[in-house]
Amino acid sequence: MPRATSVGMEPLDELCTWDDDDVSDWGRGTYGHPCRECGYDWPDDLDVMIEVVRQTPTKMRSALGGSDGTGRDPTLIWDARSYVCHVVDNLRIWAERLVAALDVPAVRVGPYDADLLAASRNYAAVPVAGALWSLTDSVDAWLRAVDAARGGEIDLDHPERGTLRLIDVASTNAHDAYHHVFDVERSVV
Ligand SMILES: [Zn+2]
Repeated sequence: MPRATSVGMEPLDELCTWDDDDVSDWGRGTYGHPCRECGYDWPDDLDVMIEVVRQTPTKMRSALGGSDGTGRDPTLIWDARSYVCHVVDNLRIWAERLVAALDVPAVRVGPYDADLLAASRNYAAVPVAGALWSLTDSVDAWLRAVDAARGGEIDLDHPERGTLRLIDVASTNAHDAYHHVFDVERSVV
């Protein structure tokens, strides 16, 4: 199984300590601990999660290696640039949810269908340069939203995952970004 360091991140277990009481077990239970595919080690330190997201545009550009993003690993449903677009939209949507939940109790999350969004936005036709520009923009918006959320009480009511706090959102968002950098890396050969 590939390790997290395969995409050039710092080894996460050297940056944090574990406290299973701090973060929801949803991600670890769903994807494995560490993630069975990308090796993400589910840190419980919010600052480590933020750093993973902050590094994503640089890591994604490196994973693409100057390609046009049309490469696709045969085990994956999308090509490389589609995964870039997915991370763009996922971070943007979660940033929007975090800001909406600032000091408003139990804001209901309306899940979106990532496959329908990919088809509607026609990810496979988005030029990679535009996708990378959007990724930087989306990460910046997410960082601002998380910074604002740190000063408030976040309580999102997710229909499948229950109550989500800031650290739960940041945990799954960081994994999603990290995992798809890995997907892009294995799609570009
Ligand atoms: Zn993963």
